[in-house]
Amino acid sequence: FVIPDFQDFIKDIEEMYWSAKSNTDGKVASYIPQLARASPENWGVSVCTIDGQRFSIGDVTVPFTLQSCSKPLTYAMALETLGPDVVHKYVGTEPSGRNFNELVLDYNMKPHNPMINAGAILVCSLLKTLDKPEMTLAEKFDYVMSFFSRLAGHEVLGFNNAVFLSEREAADRNYALGFYMREHKCYPEKTNLRECMDFYFQCCSMEANCDIMSIMAATLANGGICPITDEKVLRPDSVRNVLSLMHSCGMYDYSGQFAFKVGLPAKSGVSGAMLIVVPNVMGICTWSPPLDPLGNSCRGLQFCEELIQRFNFHKYDNI
Ligand code: GLN
Repeated sequence: FVIPDFQDFIKDIEEMYWSAKSNTDGKVASYIPQLARASPENWGVSVCTIDGQRFSIGDVTVPFTLQSCSKPLTYAMALETLGPDVVHKYVGTEPSGRNFNELVLDYNMKPHNPMINAGAILVCSLLKTLDKPEMTLAEKFDYVMSFFSRLAGHEVLGFNNAVFLSEREAADRNYALGFYMREHKCYPEKTNLRECMDFYFQCCSMEANCDIMSIMAATLANGGICPITDEKVLRPDSVRNVLSLMHSCGMYDYSGQFAFKVGLPAKSGVSGAMLIVVPNVMGICTWSPPLDPLGNSCRGLQFCEELIQRFNFHKYDNI
């Protein structure tokens, strides 16, 4: 086993869980009522190792919407189906140094990277327009959902229609980004912007829980092979690209500090979820809705920092 004494490891996870539980910092996202209703008490942690040992504690079966945690997944799918050369003709690999939804493109007039809204909307247009273009939006939704589900060992994902509808209602900035990119001819030809935006909101509104997301993180930790089903879902080069950009761009404007302090690829979302990958060891998902001013889950961050104090998981720990 990659974690030889798993029982002992679980004791550490439990201690870190309880210590973060008493942290009441942060505010639940409130830009739409459906997210504002989330209980600040919710707190769950799930771990899945690359050899399939699993442990979960807290609110690990309560569903939450993927929100920005869908960004590495759609990016992974685009890499897998279209290849990195095509994808990176349209989107960069540089941290933006700006807010995740800021109205800004890089000096090539491309979105900076796939982990911010502009880049994720662009990736959605690539998936919609270049990969199986004959599919309708309905078919494309099923196709993407089943790809996500393969990453999660064929666990079933949900969809929160109320979140989808209100995301679309409260989306002035995202539409502004969408049109700004059309003005600069960022999309592949034949892109239908309305469909592409809907597709982006749908990806944000898919639902999963900590248990399920920890398997996705474990598939990434395991080079693209799902440790539960042994299915090869992603090529190693796709995984490398996804993890590289999670490492440099996954935690909003805290990405540099997170890379310094924690040294692990991770991605957070406004629902309070966090996907954390310990390459060649395990995937972790934490979920707790209260967010710090930069948009990262307060308990999730505390958990990661304690994890690195107890274990030598930081990328540069073993040199
Ligand atoms: N639905 C959010 C948006 O597009 C998702 C972004 C996030 O999780 N930070 O604004």
